[in-house]
Amino acid sequence: MYSSSPKKGFLEVICGPMFSGKSEELIRRLRRAQIGQQSVISFNPGIDTRTPSHKIASHNGTSFQAVTIQSPEQMMNFITTTHNVIGIDEAQFFSADLVNIICDLIDSGKRVIVTGLNLDFKAVPFGTIPLLMAIADTVTKLSAICVLCGNDAYLTQRIVNNEPAKFDDPIIKPGAQESYQARCRSCHVIDKKPLWQKTL
Ligand code: ADP
Ligand code: ZN
Repeated sequence: MYSSSPKKGFLEVICGPMFSGKSEELIRRLRRAQIGQQSVISFNPGIDTRTPSHKIASHNGTSFQAVTIQSPEQMMNFITTTHNVIGIDEAQFFSADLVNIICDLIDSGKRVIVTGLNLDFKAVPFGTIPLLMAIADTVTKLSAICVLCGNDAYLTQRIVNNEPAKFDDPIIKPGAQESYQARCRSCHVIDKKPLWQKTL
């Protein structure tokens, strides 16, 4: 029988571009859960060099203790039956195995809160985030402020050597100076559009 747990959990996805406050919102929800006497554990991927190990850090200066892991399976070494709330930051960097693990956690009654970029710098859906958005009970799509015009920004601009990155640029360009900015659709610059019929 598929359904065994008397009380299932809940999946919340927090998505948006860089600087939209995803980590800030995750930290806020985890802190509120702790105030509510919930047992909280959170995870972040080791590959994200922006975030110092063992904490989720927001660009607003706040942080929350986290277990830094390389693969989603490692979460199961740390999650116990007493944990009620599980936070996962920067989930776009994890492999697709994350989805089944999250579904099992929800089935076992956990509240899982996941953040991630829903689109990459090309404005292409990023990793497992679109799938998690579809499965989630709630989806919060945040906006940042466009650094060029001040409007709401739903996209992330990649800049390589002071120029907008090209669609086919390698993800890691050795020796290149790269940075990311929040931009609205009008100010976002990319030289190509994805061909959806080929990727679906
Ligand atoms: P994310 O996890 O989505 O990258 P963070 O929680 O790390 O976002 O950072 C959000 C914070 O970043 C904001 O509260 C604000 O202080 C700061 N910030 C810097 N640049 C911007 C921007 N262009 N738009 C909005 N917030 C920005
Ligand atoms: Zn703009």
